[in-house]
Amino acid sequence: MARNPIQFQPGLSLPAFLAQYGTEAQCQAALFQHRWPKGVVCPDCGNTTGSLLARGVYQCHHCHHQTSLTAGTLFHATHLPLTTWFLAIYLLTQRKNGLSALQLSR
Ligand SMILES: [Zn+2]
Repeated sequence: MARNPIQFQPGLSLPAFLAQYGTEAQCQAALFQHRWPKGVVCPDCGNTTGSLLARGVYQCHHCHHQTSLTAGTLFHATHLPLTTWFLAIYLLTQRKNGLSALQLSR
C-alpha cells in the first residue's frame, strides 16, 4: 500500500509556530502575502493601485472602494486578534483526530 504523503507530512512545533505567527504583525504579513501576493487588488474593479489609509484600510485609486486586509475573508468583521485565529487554526490542523469546539474555546 502506498504511503499517503498528506498523512505523513511534517508537523509544525508550537515554538516554531509561535516564532512564525506569534505577533499580530506577523499574522497580518502572512495574511497579506496569501491574499495579495502581487500587491493590493481592488475587489470591485481589480485595480492594483491604491493607498493605505489610517485604520489599516486600503482605498482604490480608480473607484475609491475601501477594503481591509480581513474584508471578505474568513476573518471578516472579527473582534478577535489574528493571533487568536491563527492559533485556533494551528490547533485544529495539528491534531490527527481534530479538536472539539469546547476544547478549542478552553
Ligand atoms: Zn477599485
